[in-house]
Amino acid sequence: MPDAAPAFGAPIDLHTHSSASDGTETPYEVIRSASEAGLGTIALTDHDTTAGWASAALAAHDFDLTFVPGMELSTRLEHASIHVLAYLIDPANPALLAETETIRDARLARAERIVDRIGRDYDLTWQDVLAQTTEGATVGRPHIADALVAKGLAENRSQAFQGILHWRAGYFQPHYAPTPLAGVELVVAAGGVPVLAHPGTGGRERVVPEARLRKLVDAGLFGLEIEHRQNTPDGKERLYELAAKFGLVVTGSSDYHGEGKPNRLGENRTSPEVLERIIARATGTAPVYGAVARTN
Ligand code: AMP
Ligand code: FE
Ligand code: FE
Ligand code: ZN
Repeated sequence: MPDAAPAFGAPIDLHTHSSASDGTETPYEVIRSASEAGLGTIALTDHDTTAGWASAALAAHDFDLTFVPGMELSTRLEHASIHVLAYLIDPANPALLAETETIRDARLARAERIVDRIGRDYDLTWQDVLAQTTEGATVGRPHIADALVAKGLAENRSQAFQGILHWRAGYFQPHYAPTPLAGVELVVAAGGVPVLAHPGTGGRERVVPEARLRKLVDAGLFGLEIEHRQNTPDGKERLYELAAKFGLVVTGSSDYHGEGKPNRLGENRTSPEVLERIIARATGTAPVYGAVARTN
């Protein structure tokens, strides 16, 4: 008997953001854009929130796509901000809910501190930033960037990040986040599947050391997002070595933020085999199969 065809559609993009965090499109619009881009499966992975899932699930039915519920959890190791993609978590898991709420609160207070500092040198107020966020959204530097653009202090998000928002400009402030190990543990305890987001952006030398990665793998880390435009070529090379060594799955994704970043939907993709393994591993929740995807 031939293997059953996967219940989800392809191509597959497992990393996108909506206005529930720092993307410029609503969750519904992200799914619609994915449909227009010819994708069959899309994950929504907003920073530290699952608020976009319900609307994305509705859109999955309207546009006949498979929707993989996800989140991009902020973690931090000393000065390094490390993102953990969390697929198919139980959105009602109390520990994860509490921690993500703490992180979102910390992000808000930190954004105010950054704006406070910028406001000493430029005409920018906290009200300007609030005007760029939607109710309940996870606030980040991209919202400050949008306010800078609205005030004519930057041309676009990318330029704001290269200028006023760059840590070298002196306004940067960090925010609280759990360690990567605590983050992986939280995701696993919530029935989710953790994958390290864009772990090769700093090049080969700055890829997570083997001993540290081993601890994350022992805690349940499942994969590495290697095919991502911000991972450098030699960073990717090192990551492929580590994925082989530790038996980690390899994902590829766009990290789409709507108009907020040049990243285009589907520019990197994940194989159906890998998605099948992620789904098989998860116990927190299941994908939402749009009508057409379900019949193939
Ligand atoms: P934060 O989490 O508040 O420190 O802000 C980091 C976020 O800003 C990341 O999630 C990125 O998606 C976004 N970001 C970083 N660099 C850029 C850029 N050059 N253009 C647009 N967005 C960016
Ligand atoms: Fe982002
Ligand atoms: Fe990220
Ligand atoms: Zn992201």
